[in-house]
Amino acid sequence: MWCVFCEHDASKSRSVEHIIPESLGNKEHILKRGIVCDKCNNYFASKIEEPVLSSINFQNLRSRQGIANKRGIIPFQYGIFAQAGAPIALRTSPDEGTSVGAWHEKDDARFVRALMGLNRGTFLVPLSMPIDDRLLARFIAKIGVEVYIEKAMEGDITVGQIIASEELKLIRRFVRRGDSPENWPMSRRRIYDEEAIFSEDQSVYQVLHEYSLLVTDENEIYAIICIFGEEYTINLGGPSIDGYRRWLSANGDRSPLYMS
Ligand SMILES: [Zn+2]
Repeated sequence: MWCVFCEHDASKSRSVEHIIPESLGNKEHILKRGIVCDKCNNYFASKIEEPVLSSINFQNLRSRQGIANKRGIIPFQYGIFAQAGAPIALRTSPDEGTSVGAWHEKDDARFVRALMGLNRGTFLVPLSMPIDDRLLARFIAKIGVEVYIEKAMEGDITVGQIIASEELKLIRRFVRRGDSPENWPMSRRRIYDEEAIFSEDQSVYQVLHEYSLLVTDENEIYAIICIFGEEYTINLGGPSIDGYRRWLSANGDRSPLYMS
């Protein structure tokens, strides 16, 4: 058993690897133990996933969608109290209803005094916030590599063969070490509403996340990862997204996830 990222012995590793973080509601897409070693698993959790998921963009998404973290806590949404220009924390839970307070606890008393002096006011809660490109690219690249591994192993390709092949070397390094290349451009676009409800036969459901691989005519391999309706596409072979742009224009901008 060799770790697919650092290539060290992973036979004594205990952790299973969540392809999509648990804190985005993933309970089923998991690589079994021995594929990603404990050290890499911890590194991804603290250096990539935690900073992405605690960004306001993802924290607000998790809060809006009521997705609890591993400790069962639904995060607060970040917003602005318009009359005071002060940041606020808003949370709605089935048990406790809606609660609101100052974002920084030390400002709570001032926040309450300001509220008491008003008959009405406005909270502004952003639906989307910028997030560091490089951090987000490493987050999506990690998922993309693991999607590839999951699919490859279904096709009886071994981790040893993946490590030996040149194909994923650069992106594995970008994820695990992050020293090069400088950036890894992705495609990011919304393909359905965050709250979209799908129906099939007698059942209705919401799609939290879904993913697939696309192999283009130019023999490039892309991971297509959709998180709450936002499609992220990354080229697993190198830091260029041009081939996907060409594929999109040849295919009427449809998502590879919804081609059939
Ligand atoms: Zn490792």
